[in-house]
Formats: sequence, structure tokens, C-alpha cells
Amino acid sequence: MAVSRREFLQGGALAAALALSGTKAEAGSDSPQMRTKGLKSSTTICPFCAVGCGLVVHTKNGKVVNIEGDTQHPINQGALCSKGSALFQVANNEHRLQKVMYRAPGSDKFEEKSWDWALERIAQKMKETRDKSFKAKEINKKDNKEYVVNRTEGLAFLGGAGLDNEECYLWSKFARSMGVAHLEHQARI
Ligand code: SF4
Repeated sequence: MAVSRREFLQGGALAAALALSGTKAEAGSDSPQMRTKGLKSSTTICPFCAVGCGLVVHTKNGKVVNIEGDTQHPINQGALCSKGSALFQVANNEHRLQKVMYRAPGSDKFEEKSWDWALERIAQKMKETRDKSFKAKEINKKDNKEYVVNRTEGLAFLGGAGLDNEECYLWSKFARSMGVAHLEHQARI
């Protein structure tokens, strides 16, 4: 009989627990069905990177109580990397920052701000920096001729692994339209 990696690990964990407790095994007493009995199951995709592993999220009264790899998903077939395995704490973590906290220049304390305020401020700062550092033309040191460059070196863009191909395309178009020359991606550095 073919045993999957997941079944092997589940069997091993159960055997180890029984050996430690000295309890006799009862058929089905620790099956995945028992563990998630009465919980609502929903499938979703891991938000951390563009591999796009499938997840099963178990909830009780609207609260996430368990997240695990989806064995039926064609990409990961139940497996998750260390980031994906720790996803539960994204939903349940009292230390996770969920509001915008701003510390003004020179201040020694943070103050709570709205998301709209943060977006507006970021946009203003980007525009200000771009306008200050924008160069329409530049002399090329090699031939000493002036060329149209239309770029800023005052801004840099860094993409993240959470972006998929289409998002990366839009992100790079946006950066280029602002004249950003320093454009990188976390997966490449
Ligand atoms: S972060 Fe890990 S679990 Fe999440 S999609 Fe990427 S490889 Fe899969």
C-alpha cells in the first residue's frame, strides 16, 4: 500500500504520542476528521509568496482555530514551507500591529493614524521626492553628450514575493512611469 508523506508523518506522530503515554490505540481516535470535527473548513491560498500554496482554514464561531496545507491542492499537495506553516499566527497574534502607528520627526512617541492618512502621506512624500530629484536630461560621461533621461534617483522600488506576475508587471509600470531607475525585487537579491 502506498503511504503518502503526510500519512506517514501523521502515523509517526500518533505512534510517538501513544508510546509516551502508554495508551492503547483506538481506531480513528486521532484521525484528522476527529481533530477538526465540528469546525468549518474553507480553502484559500497562502498570501506570502507567488508559489501560491493551497490552505485549509478551520474556523469555529468565525474565529480561525487551525490552518494547514491543502492535500487536494495541485501545487503543494498539503506541504507548506516554514512561513506557510506559521500562518496561524497571522490570524491570531496579540503582538501583531494592526493599526497605523506614526512617530513624527523629533517626537519620542507613536500616535495612531488612519490608513487614509498613511496613504495620503506616502503619496505626498513620493511626489515631493520625485519632483526634487527628477532629471530630464543628463550628460553622458563617455561621450560628453546630453541625453534625455527623464528619471529620478531619489526613489527606489522593491517588490516582494507576495506579488504575482501581473502585480509585478503593474508595479514595474508604475515605477517606470514615475521615472524610477532603481527597481529591484526581493526574490532576486
Ligand atoms: S510562503 Fe511557503 S507556504 Fe506560502 S505560498 Fe510560498 S512556499 Fe507556499
